[in-house]
Amino acid sequence: MSEILHAGVRGCVICGADNTETVFTFTREWLIRVRGANPLLLDDMEFDNDSSSSIVRCRDCSCYYIRDVYAKRLNYEPTVWSEEELLQRRDGYRNIFSRANMHHLEYQTRIMRYISRMVLSKNTGHKSELSLLDYGASFGVLTPMARVFGFKRVVAYDPGFSDNTDQLSGQEAIINFRYTNKFEDVDRCGPYDAIVCQSADEHFFELRNEIKRIYETLKSDGIVYFSHPIMDLSADLSNLRNEHNIKNPTKRDLEKRYHLDHMNYVMPRHFKNILHDQGFTECGIIFNYMYESERGILSFKNMVSLAKGIVKYVFGLLHLNFFKTEYFVKKK
Ligand SMILES: [Zn+2]
Repeated sequence: MSEILHAGVRGCVICGADNTETVFTFTREWLIRVRGANPLLLDDMEFDNDSSSSIVRCRDCSCYYIRDVYAKRLNYEPTVWSEEELLQRRDGYRNIFSRANMHHLEYQTRIMRYISRMVLSKNTGHKSELSLLDYGASFGVLTPMARVFGFKRVVAYDPGFSDNTDQLSGQEAIINFRYTNKFEDVDRCGPYDAIVCQSADEHFFELRNEIKRIYETLKSDGIVYFSHPIMDLSADLSNLRNEHNIKNPTKRDLEKRYHLDHMNYVMPRHFKNILHDQGFTECGIIFNYMYESERGILSFKNMVSLAKGIVKYVFGLLHLNFFKTEYFVKKK
């Protein structure tokens, strides 16, 4: 298994060419003045007045990506979180499983149910226990949810985890799973019946190679779920350049989408091509939408959400790529 890099200067994430024009540059001055970044945190990252990270547009295939990925932030050097940091992260994670997040949890439950049904339908002749890898997991809900849905061996992998993140996973608890920042651990516990990669690929320095790794770590009859965010920079670029004049909520959306850690702005058509190139083919379309129970089924918000869900589902059935963010794939 080849070593994956996390920082440096790179060619186009789609076509590999290094034929670009710079469209936007993150600088310390901009991050402080426009984003209100804490100078002390930037100091910690060693993002000084000479540091920068630029979004470019590939002249060959029109893809946008960050060419010079900021190294100090993303070296993923082994770290150990203090007891206090661990407790802070534990409390933050616990808060995800609370009333404020119940609609999101319900949405994710339907995703996990869909994955488990697909895995079982392919495993009809087997009796062995099922495994799941959460690739680029951070502290997402699918990791513990996979255990609840019956995946017995669950590994959450994220190179951004500290060496002692596993202290949070409660190995003695009934709902237990494993956190690791080492791909050797992932490899040793594989191959997996299911892999989930949720809003992670926009952080991949070597996009194609990471997806190849996912392919190699999957069982021959396994299922992968990718949740791939759409960040349409061609539509957002003028707002990003003009962000200092923009008020919420557009500004908040820009802050969420475009920052130093989001380095790939791959649109659905290109993402689908990458999956195909790495040996995957689509194997399912889910009908899913965010439903807020306390508003009632006929509320405007729920009706809009339902309409969006229907449109996404129909587009999925027709293999149209607009709005496509969820991909269920298997090996060709
Ligand atoms: Zn390109």
